[in-house]
Amino acid sequence: MLGMMMHRPLSIISLLEYAAEAHPDAGMVSVRTEGDLHRQSYRECFARTAQLAHALGKLGVKPGDRVATLAWNGYRHLELYYAISGSGAICHTINPRLSAEQAIYIINHAEDSVIFVDTHFVPIIAGLKEHLPSDLKVVIMTDRAHMPDTEFEALCYEELLDGQPTTYDWPEMDENTASGLCYTSGTTGNPKGALYSHRSNVLHALMVAAIMGPGLGQGANVLPVVPLFHVNAWGLPYVAPLLGVNLIFPGAAMDGPSIFKLMDSEKVYSAWGVPTIWMGLLAEIKAQGRPPEGFGDVVIGGSAAPRSMIQKFEEMGVNVNHAWGMTEMSPIGTHGAQPPRVNALPMEEKLDIKQRQGRRCWGVDLKIVGDDGQRQPHDGKAIGELFVRGNAVVSGYFKNEEASAKAMDADGWFGTGDVASISPDGYLTIQDRAKDLIKSGGEWISSIDLENVAMAHPGIASCAAIGVRHPKWDERPVLVAVAADESKPTLDDLRDHMGEHFAKWQLPDDIIWVDALPLTATGKVSKLTLRQQLSDYKHPEVA
Ligand code: AMP
Repeated sequence: MLGMMMHRPLSIISLLEYAAEAHPDAGMVSVRTEGDLHRQSYRECFARTAQLAHALGKLGVKPGDRVATLAWNGYRHLELYYAISGSGAICHTINPRLSAEQAIYIINHAEDSVIFVDTHFVPIIAGLKEHLPSDLKVVIMTDRAHMPDTEFEALCYEELLDGQPTTYDWPEMDENTASGLCYTSGTTGNPKGALYSHRSNVLHALMVAAIMGPGLGQGANVLPVVPLFHVNAWGLPYVAPLLGVNLIFPGAAMDGPSIFKLMDSEKVYSAWGVPTIWMGLLAEIKAQGRPPEGFGDVVIGGSAAPRSMIQKFEEMGVNVNHAWGMTEMSPIGTHGAQPPRVNALPMEEKLDIKQRQGRRCWGVDLKIVGDDGQRQPHDGKAIGELFVRGNAVVSGYFKNEEASAKAMDADGWFGTGDVASISPDGYLTIQDRAKDLIKSGGEWISSIDLENVAMAHPGIASCAAIGVRHPKWDERPVLVAVAADESKPTLDDLRDHMGEHFAKWQLPDDIIWVDALPLTATGKVSKLTLRQQLSDYKHPEVA
């Protein structure tokens, strides 16, 4: 027998509509590319979102169309999030740090019809334009006075909104309608698209709000340093209106001093981002001799939070919430909100717990699978590949059957490529990474792609790209190589040779010459052995 309750489809625009009505005091502060600080309430944001939805219609955007963004964190980007998906189209956020090759691939693969670009990123579009669809419309996210000169035809964001009605008849859609698209780096080959739905994003918002909300409280100021162009800024654009917390958007300025200044002046209580950002902030806190005023909580994810970082924050009275997730999980899978018993522990014991990747959120199931394909016990000792299942986990990749088939197991669980253990009390510990990717400053580099391009250099007989620990970037790529003959190429030669295929930050920082690469029993290069051998590696910059 079925229940007799209404079925109201879950919809993304309902979150902003709710905030406009129920949290009229809350809103957002943005550091703008124009150079000033901009403030608006959720009510104003909702009205501008309606104007933007009308403008999208005038540009010919239809339900299901992909509309891209290439922008920093700011109020216009948030308006795009809501207007695009609210009107039935799909918001495709693009990472400006991608190599030109990857950006060209994803814009063409997504078949974007319009791209909205911050003024800072206009040169990126200028460089790519000849490889992009000729009918791709470009909108620059500023007003007429700040429009840059471009060699290509470009529209002005504020002009598009001007004069449009401030209400919109938001269509009611099936809650499974696609709402957003975000590409993530593949171990091999091209980036793969996670295609979110209204249902998955709203459920993700509810599940994150359920665990983070009590720690924040209405009216708190929250700083997403995690970008809107990367996996929904960890869901904050949807969670914040639901909770009635204010979003403080840092724009392009994400160095330690700028973040400190913004947090201090806006009394940010909770800040969310990857460890690299917090390295910069901690250095500035040291220089200033105090934390920013009102700072009480930091959410760290994207890479493992180092123990020393957690300790520094905790010692200054800032609660550390160490979370784990993935683009394919919308992204939050586990959270580091702790029961009072943990927060009351002596520091070393507390660090032992906070260093782990936390416990699962509601709506996310975890299992670990050993090399023998068997599910492993959650005893804190058994290690295996981590698989996940849940309401906000991908069931495959956008227009990519091969990658979709590889990603899922026979029971429909998604393989994360992380190697983990789970303790009897539910704490996840990420032990290693099975996927051949290096994560530098929160961004991926494919070691296989690095190896393929490096091997094309005549001076290299064989090589392996390895991520080594780096104090600022978490990991940096180095190349362990066997020379083809006596004339070994220099690092600069090699970087020149590889430069055309990679963004500069993706190139290896060092070459370590060896006589032979260590092999596994099956004759593959043993990256595990190399990682162990390089565990004490001192990066040239910090040696
Ligand atoms: P992305 O899809 O770019 O968000 O990256 C997801 C991956 O980042 C995960 O599969 C992990 O390999 C890594 N990751 C994310 N959070 C953490 C964390 N707290 N500790 C260790 N690795 C993490």
